[in-house]
Amino acid sequence: MAHNAVRLLPSIATAVVISAAQTTSFGQTTSSSPHKVQPPRSAKLYVFDCGILHFADVGRFGFKKEEVATTEMSVACFLVTHPKGTLIWDTGAVPDYAWMPTGNPTTQHIVLPDLQQRDVTMVKSLKGQLAEVGYSPSDITYLALSHYHYDHTANANEFAGATWLVRQAERQAMFAEKSAGTTQPSTYSALRDSKTLILENDEHDVFGDGTVVIKSAPGHTPGHQILYLKLAKAGGVVLSGDLYHYPEERKLDRVPTYEFNPEQTRASRVVIEAFLKKTGAQLWIQHDFNGNAKLKKSPEFYE
Ligand SMILES: [Zn+2]
Repeated sequence: MAHNAVRLLPSIATAVVISAAQTTSFGQTTSSSPHKVQPPRSAKLYVFDCGILHFADVGRFGFKKEEVATTEMSVACFLVTHPKGTLIWDTGAVPDYAWMPTGNPTTQHIVLPDLQQRDVTMVKSLKGQLAEVGYSPSDITYLALSHYHYDHTANANEFAGATWLVRQAERQAMFAEKSAGTTQPSTYSALRDSKTLILENDEHDVFGDGTVVIKSAPGHTPGHQILYLKLAKAGGVVLSGDLYHYPEERKLDRVPTYEFNPEQTRASRVVIEAFLKKTGAQLWIQHDFNGNAKLKKSPEFYE
């Protein structure tokens, strides 16, 4: 495995802007491309592999090592395609511009602005996985992040041309003078000027037919949210964001030690658990390594 240091300093933001412009000039699929994929008849969900986060310090989540099945975490990104447009849900931990896929796993070392360090093993770029199913970032209608921690925002700037769906409290925290730990503001700085829809209600029905709904679930961060999908064949699915990380949090009632507001997290969990019960939807915990391993990965999809 190759080891590359990925130091994400603010100056990198400039590089992102440049590479985004180059991508367009290299003629990847744009909205005017004759090869543009046709919208599906009903919503489809693609699960992208955005890496494996090696997380040894489970004490951060209130666990002893022996209490979790594995300390490894999956990093997942999702594409929803719908007759009325497309939505990207979370954008990974390592920006595409910071590394080069070789087909083999490579481990990227991340140094956050507050000097926390993480190792993430990557195989595929987000842009490459999008291209594989016929999309480029400029085709995407909506961008929504479950929340603004670094392992969800890595490629957010690539989607600055989409309409950003965010809660006011989250947006404020993202652009506060001094950002909280575990964030990488340079990776989402371009969203400041994005067309933005501030979500004010608990639920936001993205395409207006009840099949793709963003639900408020604050606590992990001020404006943390989850995504509910009502798929024609696969049924109801809830993408957890970081409402939970390890599945054992759900069983053993543990809350991470670094929540913005742990009481709010507990309250959100009660609301979402009741929603799961009512709808019969499955909960996909995005960082659940073993759960994620069982999911179909793009180019396969759920519909
Ligand atoms: Zn996370």
